[in-house]
Amino acid sequence: MELRDKFDRVADYLRIGVTDRCNLRCRYCMPEKGIDFADRKDLLSYEEIIRLARVFRELGVNKVRLTGGEPFVRKDIGFLLKGLSDLFPKVHITTNATLLQNYIPLLKEVNISGLNISIDSLDRDKFFLITRRDTYDVVMSNILACIAQKVPAKLNVVVMKGVNDMEIVDFVQFGKDHGITVRFIEAMPFNEDDGNRDVFLPAVEILNRISERFPDIRKVENGAIASSDTYVLEDGQKVGIIPAYSRTLCSFCNRIRMTPQGELMTCLYSTSGTDLRSLVRTPDVSDADLKQHIANSIIKKKKDGFVEEKDQVGSAFRSMTKIGG
Ligand code: SAM
Ligand code: SF4
Repeated sequence: MELRDKFDRVADYLRIGVTDRCNLRCRYCMPEKGIDFADRKDLLSYEEIIRLARVFRELGVNKVRLTGGEPFVRKDIGFLLKGLSDLFPKVHITTNATLLQNYIPLLKEVNISGLNISIDSLDRDKFFLITRRDTYDVVMSNILACIAQKVPAKLNVVVMKGVNDMEIVDFVQFGKDHGITVRFIEAMPFNEDDGNRDVFLPAVEILNRISERFPDIRKVENGAIASSDTYVLEDGQKVGIIPAYSRTLCSFCNRIRMTPQGELMTCLYSTSGTDLRSLVRTPDVSDADLKQHIANSIIKKKKDGFVEEKDQVGSAFRSMTKIGG
């Protein structure tokens, strides 16, 4: 069985937001005071996530990613990680790496398929300016530990014009020096006052900056499914660019998202989705019923993020942490 939408895309990759809480306050993501965090009772329990994940697995999903918020701030995350690793061939995590020092043995034990580590500056002071927390040293030490211990990791860098765009080439060089893929993400303006519009640098411009310094860069054909444009340098070093706001890769999208409160979202630009939490908490709803609700939701996935954005309802504050970026 598979989850196919009306544009013939197959959804086989589920991103699970495990919490909307975080120990950092990245300027493009969350205000200093935090957001209106969900009540604990409203979060899916690990048992509920695993039941739903099993249903998704039976619907053809073969890759999951834990994200949030910061996945490692949720208590006993190892329980969930082990449960999902028993179900899926590919389990990935997106993390700010502030707490990884406690988890590397667990990541090795579950044979984690991929870790995306977010770091937006190689400069300690600028890291603080962006995240509003003084955790650069631990993050860098954890990145180096992952590389040394061969945890399959990539770096994610949100590019902000005038803030860290002058570090693009430094990041590529860091990747070359340490043999780690670096992926640059366009900053997505989510709210009128989040400042992301002012610092937005389009994917084409990010590529130009890299090409000026590394003229031998060439594009790799990813095949039908890709969340980033992948490039390779002469020495084989890979670089990714994620057009999160330009949305040039929507026609290949295989991703669906489940929020910490169990809402199934078919697009990063969705403001509402299918309430799976109510369904799993209703005693007589069977797995077959869940499958039907999920399939009904996926079939309605919009053509692209522009159509989704146009159809957004309400004007509530939005953050990646709520949908699982
Ligand atoms: N806390 C984890 C982390 O930072 O990696 C996981 C959650 S975070 C929401 C997932 C990814 O979304 C990170 O790479 C982060 O940099 C990115 N992100 C958050 N808000 C963004 C925005 N407005 N535009 C582009 N990327 C954003
Ligand atoms: Fe936290 Fe990640 Fe958002 Fe930064 S981007 S505030 S680390 S959830």
